[in-house]
Amino acid sequence: MSADLDLLKTPGPTVTALTAPFWQAAAEGRLLIQSCEACGKAVFYPRPICPHCWSDRLAWREASGRGRLKSFSVVHKPGHPGWLPAAPYVVGLVELEEGPTMLSFIVADEAACAVGQPLVLAPTRIGGRLLPAFKPSAGAGSTRQPNHRGNTPMSTETKDGWIGVIKGRPQVGAFAERSRRTRLEDIEAFTEMTGDRNPLHYDKALAEASVFGKLIVQGGVTSGILNALVAEDLPGPGTVFLEVGWKFVKAVGVDEMITGRVEIKEVRPDKPICKIETSVRNEAGDICLTGTATVFTVPLARA
Ligand SMILES: [Zn+2]
Repeated sequence: MSADLDLLKTPGPTVTALTAPFWQAAAEGRLLIQSCEACGKAVFYPRPICPHCWSDRLAWREASGRGRLKSFSVVHKPGHPGWLPAAPYVVGLVELEEGPTMLSFIVADEAACAVGQPLVLAPTRIGGRLLPAFKPSAGAGSTRQPNHRGNTPMSTETKDGWIGVIKGRPQVGAFAERSRRTRLEDIEAFTEMTGDRNPLHYDKALAEASVFGKLIVQGGVTSGILNALVAEDLPGPGTVFLEVGWKFVKAVGVDEMITGRVEIKEVRPDKPICKIETSVRNEAGDICLTGTATVFTVPLARA
């Protein structure tokens, strides 16, 4: 599973009046399931009446996000061609803590999966949408990723490279987003800083006649939102880029709302270094920048 799941051309969910609250919450990274107000049992998939007592008094409640892997399967030949770039990947039956079973994408390699293993909700961007998925939870027997936080007692085997990092050691799967609107002043500020006075940023007529069809901001303005994300949000203060591999897929114009996103993919235990997935999208949801980066978080916490 090395493909960027977010770039997959997978079909989206069919949203109905009944399932709309589920999908709405999913888009916010939350998992809602129904709960029967007559018999108290949890219900999933969404239904108009309770399968346990036939009451129609079903209310939406936030699930704990914890569960267990009841069974799983490694998909080599997806049922829809849109999933091909992600194959092989793991699909599992997740027994939610509340009781019901849910079919879900599992964010882990086959080797990290075992029946009975504790799982935790890991909302994942797939095909341009944030969808519920699950991953092995911290401390689970066969997980490969040690998931403890920087402030818990350490094993003696490896030294904790995250001591003194202001926000502590991030978790694999953690993500952060940030949005801002580009302005003409961004172009000016970037030129002031770098001397980049490309006509594409300044000559409206030339820019409009170009393949871009509009004045565009410098790539540094677009990627700059990722600097803010890593330094402010995740992994947080003290973070610098060691290496970036970015594709600028679509130009960003002036007065466009852009949203940057970073997600932790790998965390080194011995050094405050992470591999992260990065993207910047425009208001329409099109990817403008995509790629990965390696970041180093300088320990800055005062003793
Ligand atoms: Zn009931």
